Amino acid sequence: MPRKEIGNRPQNELDMSMVGGLLVAGIDLSGRTTGTTALAWLAAEASCKRPVLDRPVVAERGLRGAGGDERIVSLVVDARPDVVAIDAPLHLPHAIICRDEDCERCFPPDGAYPSYTTRMLERKERWSDRPTTRPPMPTVMVAGIAFRAIFLRRLLEREGIRVIETWPAGVLRRMRGAPGHASPLDAVTRARLLLGCVDDPGQQLQQPDLPLDALDAVAAALAAWAYATDWFHPVEDDGWLDEGAIILPQVARA
Ligand SMILES: [Zn+2]
Repeated sequence: MPRKEIGNRPQNELDMSMVGGLLVAGIDLSGRTTGTTALAWLAAEASCKRPVLDRPVVAERGLRGAGGDERIVSLVVDARPDVVAIDAPLHLPHAIICRDEDCERCFPPDGAYPSYTTRMLERKERWSDRPTTRPPMPTVMVAGIAFRAIFLRRLLEREGIRVIETWPAGVLRRMRGAPGHASPLDAVTRARLLLGCVDDPGQQLQQPDLPLDALDAVAAALAAWAYATDWFHPVEDDGWLDEGAIILPQVARA
């Protein structure tokens, strides 16, 4: 997990006093041919302590289909955000990509069978002491979206854009600060949680017809904001860092 640099700036230059001018993006990614993909932006001026939703959330049909990836890359590259957070696995389970015939993680001495459907960081125990007891979907269940996300990350990184993985449900539950069983959050609750840490001058979050995907894109952008301002918490497994990390905010900001 490369974190030597935050955003496109060296980490040692980062503190809250220079957050002005920061721009981050969040993408709630659908499959290539189905579902709704949404792209949200959060910006910060030097005088603002909270990120500002000052651009319309994009949830147009053109973000999927034959030209969908190209359209996303075009929008992101034009704006050149410091960080883009995508709601999808950006790494595959180790056991799928490992080619080491003697790998002790894939073939441990105790004969345990490796997980090739689920990354270690998606296992319930990774999330049991965190704001939700329900972990993200196993990679295999969202493989189509994961493949799209992994290639999209390559397209963006070729353009010099930093890309991280997040999970909006985890972001929102962290904002709620309520551990315990994770019931689905309705749109009103998601909007309320986001308004607790985001300025929304255009009142986009309170529009009754705003799709859940748009709210989740804003939650993803909040994770990107957290990463760019060094206020993030990575959910990862120390022995399995090649399976990536899910970036969440550390705690709710007052
Ligand atoms: Zn291995």
